Amino acid sequence: MTGVKKWALDMACVPWQATILTLFPTMFPGPLGQSLAGRALKNGIWSCQVEDLRPYGLGSHRAVDDAPFGGGAGMVMRPDVVDAALKAIPVKKGVSRIYLTPRGRPLLQQDIQHYAHSAGVVLLCGRFEGVDERVLEAYNLEQVSIGDYVLSGGEVAAFVLLDACIRLLPGVIGCEQSSVEESFSKGLLEYPHYTRPAQWEGRDVPEVLLSGNHAAIAAWRQAQAEAVTKQRRPDLWSAWVERSKK
Ligand code: SAM
Repeated sequence: MTGVKKWALDMACVPWQATILTLFPTMFPGPLGQSLAGRALKNGIWSCQVEDLRPYGLGSHRAVDDAPFGGGAGMVMRPDVVDAALKAIPVKKGVSRIYLTPRGRPLLQQDIQHYAHSAGVVLLCGRFEGVDERVLEAYNLEQVSIGDYVLSGGEVAAFVLLDACIRLLPGVIGCEQSSVEESFSKGLLEYPHYTRPAQWEGRDVPEVLLSGNHAAIAAWRQAQAEAVTKQRRPDLWSAWVERSKK
């Protein structure tokens, strides 16, 4: 049995599991309850377990944070609170446990493909100044950033990671080919798209796309993908050129 077929078979029995640890549980599934991801959720292609961190807090106020040792601005999420929540959630084999943080390695499409082919993800959403380092070390959590900017909490980053994974699960996108031929899949940005009308406000669709010549269309699209990558993403372009030499 091929890897892809076995994956599809596994997926048919057990939904891909998203477990989210958050102080704002009502934010989920949020936008992931709509459109493709929402339909996939209803159809049991993925499951959404939300673990509220607040009940693990301490004292009558269920405190989850405290002042940083060494002084400085803001509050830090306590390690004992996060530990109690992580202990309470059942972790299936093959599930990646991830702390979303601007201090993490950048999230790439290849990571998304890896997570989408696994059993699921556990996502720890930080708030305040973040989470005490010791609990991140103790659980050896992967630390992942969705970009070089600072959000107010990990929940929006969780939506980003989950949305990108869910659309790759078998049966979510109608045409599986669209996730094979898209930006990053082969290391380049995608070529531009056009649809009807063929002429719009004095702008014509490139002639070659109307030619019916599939080889010429493929060559044009490849050239466009290379040109836009070279112009907008010199980092991706250099890697592409290096790979092409091998
Ligand atoms: N003090 C932290 C720093 O400077 O690295 C920023 C903390 S931020 C205000 C609060 C939480 O938002 C973080 O713990 C993290 O979970 C989430 N977050 C913020 N920016 C993020 C990003 N770029 N990628 C992933 N998560 C992010």
